Amino acid sequence: MSPIFPGTVSSSGQPATLGANSTHPATLGVMGGGQLGRMFVQAAQRLGYFTAVLDPDPQSPAGLVSHHHVQADYADAQGLARLAELSDAITTEFENVPAHALQTLATTRPVAPGAACVAIAQNRAQEKAHFTACASVSGVTCAPYAIIETAEQLHAVPADLLPGILKTTRMGYDGKGQARVKNTAELAAAWADLKSVPCVLEKLMPLKAECSVIVARGWDGRMVSFAPQRNVHVDGILAVTHAYEENMPSRQALRALYATKSIASHIDYVGVLCVEFFIVDDGSEHGGLIVNEMAPRPHNSGHYTMDACDASQFDLQVHAMAGLPLPQPRQHSPAIMLNLLGDVWFDAQGRSRTPDWQAVLGLPGTHLHLYGKLDARLGRKMGHLNITGADVASVKAVARQAAELLGLPGLDAL
Ligand code: ATP
Ligand code: MG
Repeated sequence: MSPIFPGTVSSSGQPATLGANSTHPATLGVMGGGQLGRMFVQAAQRLGYFTAVLDPDPQSPAGLVSHHHVQADYADAQGLARLAELSDAITTEFENVPAHALQTLATTRPVAPGAACVAIAQNRAQEKAHFTACASVSGVTCAPYAIIETAEQLHAVPADLLPGILKTTRMGYDGKGQARVKNTAELAAAWADLKSVPCVLEKLMPLKAECSVIVARGWDGRMVSFAPQRNVHVDGILAVTHAYEENMPSRQALRALYATKSIASHIDYVGVLCVEFFIVDDGSEHGGLIVNEMAPRPHNSGHYTMDACDASQFDLQVHAMAGLPLPQPRQHSPAIMLNLLGDVWFDAQGRSRTPDWQAVLGLPGTHLHLYGKLDARLGRKMGHLNITGADVASVKAVARQAAELLGLPGLDAL
């Protein structure tokens, strides 16, 4: 693909409103207007690109800050045509965008990641098949699992998969569409609760820790990466990311990085990809590595890169899709990211409150990112706080103070 340089004028898009022979500034488009779309748009604009967002919500976080906001459903033919008209290349900010919509866009514009890659990440069964196909090269397998699409498959589940976690094959995120089950009776009840939609049952693994790896791969197959980060989840939602050298054993970090690169290459992936791993207690000193799932986009666990690295995961997404050179990012500060859910806007009695930003922002090395969502709800991702510093000890000390001031969970992980 020939590069799309920012600040240039292109005639490829020819927005309908400008007439047939008109030109428009180089514009990057994104499917989805959530916080990931917003941070992508902001990174693209910093380079000088115009941006276009497709999202049905008039108040979407990315739509509010983009040059163009196409307010349409993700599958709406007219909306897709408009996004393609406006954009020179298109990406996605969430994996549940209909794969056929990406296919439609790809008939006229470069789309990264491609529909086939996103389709794999949308479907846990396909995703696991992909991880299994890569296993001989990647060196990691996924947790033992069974596919449950019929009552026969439900009854044939091997006993050694229990206790386990039943997950819907599609549309799961932040622990939604999941149920922990101890025995076959609970499994049957949970599947009925999930309306008997296609599911996978995963064996419950003895987690020592969790980590993720973010890579960016260009159209030419060149890849750059961030070092693996260690993640702490509370109630199935990411709470804390630890991003510094000693965050996990280096052998595990190297294995996870290598595995992620092979998972990306195997499907000729273009763009930013995040792969999540479990580190499990397998009796060995540092534990074994198990691949959990992949996100075909920048990821919550990579938000620390915005303040701790010389290129963020969003910068790399811009570079990758536009065919610009992909610089190997360098992390210049140890960092901890604290996720800010809507819960922070409520006190213990459930009354709404304003978090004590005065105190939090007075702490050294704190970087607040709020996503422009005006309606705080429990469990809703409202923003994140990155903490950087000269050394790990001071970053941890500030993170602990900030978490205490904000009443965040997962404090023991700091
Ligand atoms: P997201 O897309 O937000 O990362 P998700 O809804 O797709 O989340 P998973 O990543 O599958 O969910 O699971 C969420 C969390 O639940 C994991 O990070 C881990 O803490 C726990 N978990 C999931 N599967 C297992 C398992 N097989 N064994 C032990 N813990 C698990
Ligand atoms: Mg996950």
